[in-house]
Amino acid sequence: MAHIEVNENLCKGCGMCVYACPKNIIALDKSKINAKGYHPAALLDAEKCIGCKSCAIMCPDIAITVYR
Ligand code: SF4
Ligand code: SF4
Repeated sequence: MAHIEVNENLCKGCGMCVYACPKNIIALDKSKINAKGYHPAALLDAEKCIGCKSCAIMCPDIAITVYR
């Protein structure tokens, strides 16, 4: 099953991946703060991920790895 992993310490909380995901299953995790002081992106529902890589392509910091 496709899913993503976010390298939380590379993430700058820009939200680009949130807007890029066609399934709307990425959100910034307001309960966490990373080493840079940002809320990192998180996958909300791995069951719905289609492995399209839109999030990873959009991420300016190459913080997302897609597994499919
Ligand atoms: S691979 Fe596609 S469906 Fe999966 S989280 Fe990224 S943008 Fe969304
Ligand atoms: S696009 Fe990259 S840097 Fe921006 S919130 Fe998503 S994972 Fe973090």
